[in-house]
Amino acid sequence: MIVRMECKLSKDERLVSQITPKSKDFSRWYVEVIKKAELADYAPMKGMMVIRPYGFAIWENIQSLLDKRIKESGHRNAYFPLFIPETFLQKETEHLEGFSPEVAWVTQGGAEELEERLAVRPTSEAIIGNMYSKWIKSWRDLPVLINQWANIVRWEKVTRPFLRTTEFLWQEGHTAHESFEEAEKETLMILDMYREFVENELAVPVVSGRKSERERFAGALETYAIEALMSDGKALQMGTSHNLGQHFSKVFNIRFEDRDQKLQYVWQTSWGVSTRLVGAVIMAHGDDSGLRFPPRVAPTQIVIIPISLGDWKTDVLPTAEKLEIQLKKEGWRVELDAREEFTPGWKFSEYEMRGVPLRIEIGPRDIQKNQAVIVRRDTMTKESLSLDSMMNEIPEVLDGVQNTLLEQALQFQQDNTHEADEYEEFKSILESRRGFIRAFWCGRQDCEDKIKEETMATIRVIPLEQNKQGRCVRCQSRSGQWVYFARAY
Ligand SMILES: [Zn+2]
Repeated sequence: MIVRMECKLSKDERLVSQITPKSKDFSRWYVEVIKKAELADYAPMKGMMVIRPYGFAIWENIQSLLDKRIKESGHRNAYFPLFIPETFLQKETEHLEGFSPEVAWVTQGGAEELEERLAVRPTSEAIIGNMYSKWIKSWRDLPVLINQWANIVRWEKVTRPFLRTTEFLWQEGHTAHESFEEAEKETLMILDMYREFVENELAVPVVSGRKSERERFAGALETYAIEALMSDGKALQMGTSHNLGQHFSKVFNIRFEDRDQKLQYVWQTSWGVSTRLVGAVIMAHGDDSGLRFPPRVAPTQIVIIPISLGDWKTDVLPTAEKLEIQLKKEGWRVELDAREEFTPGWKFSEYEMRGVPLRIEIGPRDIQKNQAVIVRRDTMTKESLSLDSMMNEIPEVLDGVQNTLLEQALQFQQDNTHEADEYEEFKSILESRRGFIRAFWCGRQDCEDKIKEETMATIRVIPLEQNKQGRCVRCQSRSGQWVYFARAY
């Protein structure tokens, strides 16, 4: 028999987590939950953060799940240097200008002043382009499909943990191809891989499409992106995939002899996601009680809490320990919290705040009935499961948590995606409700610039499928192109 009831905690037990409710002040909630749950902390240097073990574990889970997809689609990992000579960056002015306000420079090595300044990589196109020009000689060397997991430095003025920090971690794929078509195919394949990864593993629904010229990566022919809506109604760019065309291959002289023995410049792509994804998981799923992690990336998927009543160390603890071993054997990430200095109630709200998807409680009475109580973090529902069948039921329960989080986020996205035909309507939606606004855009940059200036909203993506006609939301000229607008992080 399954018993369902709301899990209620006493007021005192609620106090342990002491975070500002998300519904009251989203920004404060975000920063507080990151500190309280020990995901990250501010470093002594401005704009930098320390990713603590609990936060780093999410990144490691993201890495391993995405790395698998990157490798399955034929790419291999490599590692390029952190420093890039200034002349490499200068070769490509558009690229350098795009990044120059954010580049950190090394001017001295030991006591010696360097003859040439070294940039701390803001991205690796320049150094990789230089190496590819040595490695690629013939069409037989193509395609080159390389990815690197690395750290990046961009000197940001305004920072927020995980979303924008001076140093961050990411993966950057850099590929070289024989033709434009092949490079475009790769760019779109990666875009779709990112979408599938983010939706299935992080349970965050996204919209995807092309970026406008204004929002394009410096030096790229086309930039594509996936964007998600956070609970405060602001959009977050979750990943980008660029078709670089022959721009960098001409600058770095990456040529190959084609199948007709003619010299050609290669066609390139680059693409990346970063530790920003951790911020997205926090913002998209958290609630007033704290974090809610999707099981597939949760650092701890299941926490077992023995109820310390009576002679619990003899009656309860051995069963809890046995359960921990069994669950670990099945491959789950499990924690058993048998600490005596904290009450079970304190632990309940602590692990709720930390976003652990499933809690198993076992007390003396449960042992008598050969059962344990499980509490889902997504719905906070409680039910009793027999200890005999528990191993078989856990996978389904955790899948349920994963699906609920995705469904809730999808519902949120739908409820907060609006359409606007008129500029006044557009502005009033942004003032009152935010979210995504689907609207037609004439394609002119001055319209895009004015919209940003007047409403702080930008074009997040231009969806690839376009089959409608309308009028530009600002200038009312005819347009066959609708886009997603939003205020963004
Ligand atoms: Zn217009």
